[in-house]
Amino acid sequence: MEILHRHSSRLLPVLLRAKPDKTYPVYLPTRVPVSRPEFPIPGPYLTSRRTFSSSKVAKAGWLLGLGAKKEQNLPKIIKAGDPVLHEPAQEVDLKEIRSERIQKIIDDMIKALRMAPGVGIAAPQIGIPLKIIVLEDTKEYISYAPKEETRAQDRHPFDLLVILNPKLKRKSDRTAFWFEGCLSVDGYRALVERHLDVEVTGLDRDGQPIKVDASGWKARILQHECDHLDGTLYVDRMVPRTFRIVENLDLPLAEGCPKLGVCGTKPKGIEKVKESSL
Ligand SMILES: [Zn+2]
Repeated sequence: MEILHRHSSRLLPVLLRAKPDKTYPVYLPTRVPVSRPEFPIPGPYLTSRRTFSSSKVAKAGWLLGLGAKKEQNLPKIIKAGDPVLHEPAQEVDLKEIRSERIQKIIDDMIKALRMAPGVGIAAPQIGIPLKIIVLEDTKEYISYAPKEETRAQDRHPFDLLVILNPKLKRKSDRTAFWFEGCLSVDGYRALVERHLDVEVTGLDRDGQPIKVDASGWKARILQHECDHLDGTLYVDRMVPRTFRIVENLDLPLAEGCPKLGVCGTKPKGIEKVKESSL
């Protein structure tokens, strides 16, 4: 997943400044339905059509992907359209995990992730059709985003995580809509509904079993990266009418689109949106 780089003039990870929608009255926080609590952001962040300005969320997100730095021997990030990104990856053979080849693939993924920079990458994104994902979120990346946003997203730093042959299970029915981007679809964002609580089991780079319980933003990253291993990109799951170029992140969501944030209880309409995004 991409994150925004603070040195990029185009994609500064500034909080999406919510522009109050002039056409619609601004809701006061007290008017937010209890059944589907939105984020407790006062004033202009709560509008009738959107809780946060979209660019704030997307820019500060995980999916920056603007790295301008280049390093020799750095694996190239494969972009959408290459079949390797649209076909299922294969399991890594247990006997091969400690081999030089697999260890080099993992090291290459870590390098590519940090150079992008991003918070998650899957092996198909460097052209390797194997089930390997690498994730990392740092205090630094998170510091580029507004605090109220990272709080709402339940986003916290975590150490580098390498998972081979991951299997993902959702652990609750809680979901949220936030903007996502992808290193393989750089320059764009869209709203994607994701589960808020997941468990991922798999193997670490030494072949030892691991289990990761994650919620919030980390759970989103895990879902995004595991999707890559099934040949699924976020654009296959997005709410189509929220798709936009990064430069348009601050523009309001179209009428009828789900609001950003956590869905406490599934309101009517979300199922409809999901259907229409299939
Ligand atoms: Zn991606």
